Amino acid sequence: MTGDGTRAVRAGLPEPVPYEPSLPGPVFAAHYHLPGDPVGPYTYGRDENPTWTGLERAIGELEAPGEEVTTVAFPSGMGAVSAVLLSQVRSGDAVVLPDDGYQALPLVRERLEAYGVEVRTAPTAGDAQLALLDGAKLLWLETPSNPGLEVCDIRRLADAAHAAGALVAVDNTLATPLGQRPLDLGADFSVASGTKALTGHGDVLLGYVTCRDPERAAEVRRWRKTAGAILGPMEAWLAHRSLATLQLRVDRQAATALALAEALRGRPEVTGLRHPGLPGDPSHAVAVRQMRGGRFGCVVSFVLADRARAERFLAALSLVDDATSFGGVRSTAERRGRWGGDAVPEGFIRFSVGAEDPEDLVADVLRALDASAEAATG
Ligand SMILES: *Cc1c(COP(=O)(O)O)cnc(C)c1O
Repeated sequence: MTGDGTRAVRAGLPEPVPYEPSLPGPVFAAHYHLPGDPVGPYTYGRDENPTWTGLERAIGELEAPGEEVTTVAFPSGMGAVSAVLLSQVRSGDAVVLPDDGYQALPLVRERLEAYGVEVRTAPTAGDAQLALLDGAKLLWLETPSNPGLEVCDIRRLADAAHAAGALVAVDNTLATPLGQRPLDLGADFSVASGTKALTGHGDVLLGYVTCRDPERAAEVRRWRKTAGAILGPMEAWLAHRSLATLQLRVDRQAATALALAEALRGRPEVTGLRHPGLPGDPSHAVAVRQMRGGRFGCVVSFVLADRARAERFLAALSLVDDATSFGGVRSTAERRGRWGGDAVPEGFIRFSVGAEDPEDLVADVLRALDASAEAATG
């Protein structure tokens, strides 16, 4: 079997055709030419599009190399998250969600409860999910979690969930399929926002669901058709183009994230430092077991004294944009408390490491820490 980089540059692409581009251009079609009985895969644009198919094959090859899986692409990560939850659970079912996951999950919770679904919550770390599985239909995991970078043992929780008759979905956004393969670890669904590291340029919103069971996949696909939440062909094409560099980006960004975390470890003004790749981090032991290739993601989180200090730090950075989201080739950071949706301290920084030279980036961060301290006393 070929390596991740080799797979990434060819994923989902057709055999080369003379005088044709290696990545076929986006197909813009609301409907297709359908003489006779409409038996082909492409009939109406809301159901299928060849540009989606290429991208979906590519993601499937990365999530589960060499296996028959189905991937269904969505126009955003939340489109994918909602598609799994709303296609799998019915009124009267119970689901277990993380209470420290992506900040829009509470909105999904409200929706589920409005539809008569019982929602139970547990923190990502600590195995508290185990006590909530009895009678549950679906266990939702997000690991590493955003923004807290907690990690849970997917295999262990999936085994327990299956024994209790529950399905398991894992939000694989932060790790990307090169950093973690949830289906191999026992999950029924690997779900992600491709807006982040998967596409990596901060220029496209995307989501996907990959699963092995064709019937489950058909339910997700039917949900997409029903809700009509479909990806534009241009976005699908752009995302597919980005996958060729996935391994380069993920490896570089993960290595620099670790270097940054190590540099921050020695700083007295930094508390609550988290990065799953950092030896000694509470997530490290499980992350090493279930994540792949030393790819622990590009996010480092830490806490500065208070809001003012965090804002001064962000303003003092010169190579890092103050922006939300993560996973892009340009480093970004934000004071996560600005949104009000996460249970984090006022001075909590979520830092997304880009593809800059590691020495430049680390120097910029350390300089900005110094500069933000001076402003306080000066
Ligand atoms: C960003 C994010 C999402 C939502 O993705 P969008 O593409 O913004 O809709 C879901 N899960 C996690 C872990 C995320 O970081």
